[in-house]
Amino acid sequence: MASRDRSKTPTQLPDFDLVLFGGTGDLALRKLLPALYRRYVAGLFPTHARIISVARSSIQRDDYLTQVEHSSRNFLPQGLDATRWRAFSRTLDYVGLDATHPADYAKLAAKLADRPAQVRVFFLSTAPALFETICRNLAAADLVTPGARVVLEKPLGQDRVSAEHINQNVGAIFPERQIYRIDHYLGKEAVQNLLALRFGNALFEPLWRRGLISHVQITVGEQIGVESRGAFYDHTGALRDMVQNHLLQLLCIMAMEPPVSNHPDAVRDEKLKVLRALRPLVARDVASNVVRGQYKAGAVNGLPVVGYLEEEGIPADSATETFVALKAQIDSWRWAGVPFYLRTGKRLAEQSADIVIHFQDVPHSIFESSDTVTANRLVISLQPRDSITLTILAKNPGETMRLRPVDLRLDMADTVRTPQLDAYERLLTDVIKGNLTLFMRRDELDVAWRWIDPIRDAWLQSDERPKAYTAGSWGPAAASSLIGRDGYAWHGEL
Ligand code: NAP
Repeated sequence: MASRDRSKTPTQLPDFDLVLFGGTGDLALRKLLPALYRRYVAGLFPTHARIISVARSSIQRDDYLTQVEHSSRNFLPQGLDATRWRAFSRTLDYVGLDATHPADYAKLAAKLADRPAQVRVFFLSTAPALFETICRNLAAADLVTPGARVVLEKPLGQDRVSAEHINQNVGAIFPERQIYRIDHYLGKEAVQNLLALRFGNALFEPLWRRGLISHVQITVGEQIGVESRGAFYDHTGALRDMVQNHLLQLLCIMAMEPPVSNHPDAVRDEKLKVLRALRPLVARDVASNVVRGQYKAGAVNGLPVVGYLEEEGIPADSATETFVALKAQIDSWRWAGVPFYLRTGKRLAEQSADIVIHFQDVPHSIFESSDTVTANRLVISLQPRDSITLTILAKNPGETMRLRPVDLRLDMADTVRTPQLDAYERLLTDVIKGNLTLFMRRDELDVAWRWIDPIRDAWLQSDERPKAYTAGSWGPAAASSLIGRDGYAWHGEL
């Protein structure tokens, strides 16, 4: 009997109050509130759902709604439906309070008082410096109910010590099972697809190991520069802004052992094992295995752009890296000897994110050597399009026996007509439902920082500046040499 397709009947969320600290900020207006509107339109909102935005500004609710409507219209590709927007906006409220003033929380308490039993989400879309204060003040105002959850946005610390400080302070108020540390890459449809590919098909598992995979590349390329966030970025850099979280999380999903179930801790335990198995990069390894770069003026999509040091808010002698490429090794039975090359940067040639798995060459070719063009390759693309491409060698049509690479491509947008969920839609839904699978656990964060900190320490002790690269390129030449000396080339440079 054919099984019923349940994908078209998403389950409604439980009754919830979502308190959005930083409700007037960039992230809230550009991502979070549009994502909540889309969940509303999808029919997921329960009878008792409220979103209470919080910021210091003393604007009236109506003015706030106008602001959110305007920004949502800009940031939702399909725009807003006037009737649905009006209905959604009835769930939306605004409270002007200063998160550092304990007395102000009485205003929030008054809004929440009538429904203490329902799920209560505190989404902290503010600077991390406020996390501790907000949690302490929420507790003092008696707002942390058994059904409460706190959501923390990145950056979760600047190093292991500061991350631990945040974790301890937040952990003093909320137990670990009520803390949701967001890495929005884990909410991307393509990452879910990678899990489906690996653990829903018996086909790939026997191939997913040393001996059959020669190396793995993970690239997250951005075309944008630092935009208006120069001051923030200059204190952070690509290693801490991208590698410590997004790239390492992608590496974990790619490399982890099959979990025994999809229970949050079963998945997170396996990711943790990967992080623990990463071979530490000590000072002498950093020079040979990590390349840092900084963009200079160039052109992106044919338009001239300034260099990093000319951007607003950036000191003229800044040594902050806007690009990192590195070679990582996982010391485990499955992955010993298989290099993982990670690469990310701003002002790169393309806005793209992909995981490329290169399989070994055939052990012996019966064809003319000139025909064996490339080994098999599996490309999991997260953006610009969510797709999976398997490159195989096939016979070139014609009389002679010649080979050529052909792509077996699955483009999710073409294959699945259901509109895809934005990462924040999925993650917000999971928080309200209480599913921690896609959120980082405290020990994962700790081990990731332990691996990252020595790289930064080595840079701080070195006099070398980041290598300059032209905006609109794929980074400094040293990044090509890093992979080239092992006999490989970056995907796209083949
Ligand atoms: P933002 O635009 O600067 O917004 C900060 C928000 O916090 C504003 O609503 C601000 O409103 C509010 N706020 C600041 N101090 C406050 C206080 N004392 N009491 C109450 N509210 C206060 O920042 P953002 O870009 O939205 O980023 C928010 C967080 O998400 C940051 O940690 C950021 O690193 C992280 N993040 C952002 C993005 C992104 O794309 N923007 C992506 C990933 C992570 P008032 O000034 O009116 O109080």
